[in-house]
Amino acid sequence: MIAKSVDRPAGLNPQKAPDSERAGRFRLASVAARLMFEPGRVEAGQKQERVCTCHRWRTVGTVQVRVDHARNKAIFGGLESCSNVWACPICSGTITEERRHELQQAIEAWAKQGGSVYLLTLTLPHVRADNLSGLLKVAAKTSQRFKQSKAWRSVMDQAGAVGTIRALECTWGSWHGWHPHFHILIFAKPDQLPAFEQLRAAWVAALLKTGAAGADQLNDITAHSFDVRGGDFAAEYVAKFGHEPSFKSKLEAQAMWGASREMVKGQSKVSHSMRGSTPFTLLVAAEKGDSQAAALFREFYWAFKGRRQLTWSPKLRARLGLDAEADDDEILERQANAPEFETVATLERDDWALVLRHRARYQVLLWAEREGAAGVQGVLLALRQMEQERPPDKGPPDEYQGTGEGFAEQRCADDDQSADALDGAARCASGGC
Ligand SMILES: [Zn+2]
Repeated sequence: MIAKSVDRPAGLNPQKAPDSERAGRFRLASVAARLMFEPGRVEAGQKQERVCTCHRWRTVGTVQVRVDHARNKAIFGGLESCSNVWACPICSGTITEERRHELQQAIEAWAKQGGSVYLLTLTLPHVRADNLSGLLKVAAKTSQRFKQSKAWRSVMDQAGAVGTIRALECTWGSWHGWHPHFHILIFAKPDQLPAFEQLRAAWVAALLKTGAAGADQLNDITAHSFDVRGGDFAAEYVAKFGHEPSFKSKLEAQAMWGASREMVKGQSKVSHSMRGSTPFTLLVAAEKGDSQAAALFREFYWAFKGRRQLTWSPKLRARLGLDAEADDDEILERQANAPEFETVATLERDDWALVLRHRARYQVLLWAEREGAAGVQGVLLALRQMEQERPPDKGPPDEYQGTGEGFAEQRCADDDQSADALDGAARCASGGC
């Protein structure tokens, strides 16, 4: 009876899951977990990267399915999360949603105080052969020098700036390789665009001084490495912050990157050279078997691990009446424990393993939102039926918990070089090897 509402097989087949941003996040999280999984660590008894176990491993005995009825939104409780805002499609969704909300609050608060917010975009020249870690080092050095310049201090003074928020972003393009860049929101007096335009020379000077650009590139960097826009653009940037066009599966990897996201509309030359994939579009390509995209994602992962996505200048939050900044872990924890979520179902270990084997995390949430506890039970019932009819031949790791349990099961996956080790682990766990 219940199973009919599960709309199987379409409703339960991840390949045919309804196209939504959240479905994409769960799918791509599995790809990221697979890419970062290192069989060698199993041998060494070491933990995997947290992105591999995020929203898979249980922190306590059971997994809760929790629903906020007012917003009709379901989440899991009792699971580990990796808090990796750069590389985890699931965690980054939650964290950037909160950060976006804060940015919007900041802009509104400043507008109420009669101020304006400007958007500065700073880029540096790069070529396909550049490695990302090296570029990031030069970018950080250049940014530091820029902010320590006399020009920066005097323009900030002149414009009545009370603070800045710096966002670090990165894309990759097949022509010019990695493209790390900064967007800086400046909270200042109205009508200060001409003042900020004076910073162009300071950014160019910083690029030359740190060796980020050579003297032969002077014309190019003067024209294209610096951009400043007024309030509407800042608001538009914030509205799009963290939104990932790549989750829409109908868009192909190379077409997903929108120039609008970079706020450099009108700079055709720059936006052409900047055109590329976001890290999550690399995951989309890797999922389709693109080994170059897979290698690039790994490079990105290690280069960005532990880096700050947003940097607020000291005292700005207080000036705008915002609370102290929560770190990424705190944001995730706050959501997981938010009182508006009611636990509608509790999944025991075996049921959770079943959900993971069939890559049905997304469907559990979807049906919890649609039908509450009955929806979750319906999914489990359908999964059990499916497994009886045809045991899964692939699936993510499910059985190993903590550092010890189940790691032995991964070992036999190493023998199967044709299948990825992560999927193999689940196959072993389900008795398939
Ligand atoms: Zn995560």
